[in-house]
Amino acid sequence: MDLTERLASHPATFSHHVHLQYSTTSESCPGEACPTMAARDTRQLKHCRGFPSSLESLVKIRKSLFPVLRHGYSSLLKETPALELHGHLDALCVRFVLFARKFKLRGPKEAMATAISPTGCAAAGARGPRTHGLQNLILLNLNNNQLTWIPPEISRLRSVTYLSINHNQLASIPRELCFLENLSELQLNYNQLICVPEEIKFLKKLQKLLLVRNNIEVLPEGLCDLINLKSLDIAGNIIQIFPSRFQNLKLRELYCEENPLLLRQPVKAVGQEDVWTLQEITSRFIMNQLAEKNLFLMQAIEWYPQVRNMISQGRKCAICGKSFLTVWLECVEFVPPSKNWKISRNLQLVPLRILICSYKCFNQRGPNLFGIAQA
Ligand SMILES: [Zn+2]
Repeated sequence: MDLTERLASHPATFSHHVHLQYSTTSESCPGEACPTMAARDTRQLKHCRGFPSSLESLVKIRKSLFPVLRHGYSSLLKETPALELHGHLDALCVRFVLFARKFKLRGPKEAMATAISPTGCAAAGARGPRTHGLQNLILLNLNNNQLTWIPPEISRLRSVTYLSINHNQLASIPRELCFLENLSELQLNYNQLICVPEEIKFLKKLQKLLLVRNNIEVLPEGLCDLINLKSLDIAGNIIQIFPSRFQNLKLRELYCEENPLLLRQPVKAVGQEDVWTLQEITSRFIMNQLAEKNLFLMQAIEWYPQVRNMISQGRKCAICGKSFLTVWLECVEFVPPSKNWKISRNLQLVPLRILICSYKCFNQRGPNLFGIAQA
């Protein structure tokens, strides 16, 4: 086989697969109204059926096929994964891009597909400006790889609305991922995550968060700021307790089976004297004075960025409402799950994490609040 024949046999295969992909999803395509396909209806695809004889015709074919692939990601964002065709689409896209790149048939728009392969993603990030070409990428599927980390450059994929990294080896979620402001679905099932960053709160458009089968112990308070979150699945982790404002979420679905959630089995606590460090005493004094609008301290604090930084980590006591820094009593409050939630069957009461500033406040707690003893 000479080069022309080799070159030609590939597009014929691509063409065949792209046709298959398109014909499976074409029913879901809004047709005339479809922004990706309106300009190039399927008649154009007929160009691809022939056997190309020159490099020039190959370039033409590439031009006809690529929009169809793009169409699978952009206009059929929901249908492609629903039909379980995304794996096929990803593989096709990566092969297509690699082929086009090898024979220098590559146009700038195809750069988007580089991010679909994990190596492409990392490499594109490392090379800097290249990821700027991926700003239109909407769906990114990195399932079933061996990824141990996600490069911080992920934050450049500003249009991504669907991100799936199931069945990998991720140990953490990079903070930068939380700056994907258009993200509406994030799937991180079957990884080795041990925590979720507080910055998750920046994913304001997030509707679906799937964290099944990881090693997550604590959910951040920031999670409760996700006002659009409709579906949360944290089944198969090691979560004992939910953040205190968890009830505020407007969830429709919550799945949390196979977690060692705290059960309502109270034990007697022995009261202790509170002994605080000088730092704790000072921070509490400053925070509470600031809350009372002490003008002198409000001005003085401007000059001490370190102190400002420190007290920004302060929390409020659930009983007296005063602030504290590092010393608290961890308690649990059991509340019935919100009526609108569709939840796992085993969940009768939701254990919420409540922090209290002192034993003095602990002794004034209500009947539904329990101290947590570390066994
Ligand atoms: Zn208190």
